[in-house]
Amino acid sequence: MKYTHSPEWTTKTMELIRQLEFRHIPEDRVTCFKSIGSKSRRVIARIHTMPKIIQLGINQPPFYAIELVSEKFDRQSQEEQIKTIIHELLHIPHSFNGGFRQHRPYVNKRTVDHHYQKLTQQTRILPGWQGLIKNPFS
Ligand SMILES: [Zn+2]
Repeated sequence: MKYTHSPEWTTKTMELIRQLEFRHIPEDRVTCFKSIGSKSRRVIARIHTMPKIIQLGINQPPFYAIELVSEKFDRQSQEEQIKTIIHELLHIPHSFNGGFRQHRPYVNKRTVDHHYQKLTQQTRILPGWQGLIKNPFS
């Protein structure tokens, strides 16, 4: 498995955090990586965090890394890609405690679609997003 940091998707994820008003997620505590060579045939993305004991050991707040499986993610449409990121962000608990929120009952297609709808109802256009999402900086 090879990981490459993705500045592009890290920036887009930060924009999504802002746009969706996920105020419980500090923007500098999430980053995105592309992975190549995943053996899993189904996984498009996954979210990682560090073991609690390491977090305590280095005396830092929680940190999350979103892994985008290149073979799958790169083939998705822009809409699907955004929904993939939203899904992974939903796994971060409101307490931002370094753990995960399970799929049931919240992290599902219905919640993702709800948040995606909020994005598409925005009026301004974010550069490079082909009009799906408004620019949070303007
Ligand atoms: Zn999931």
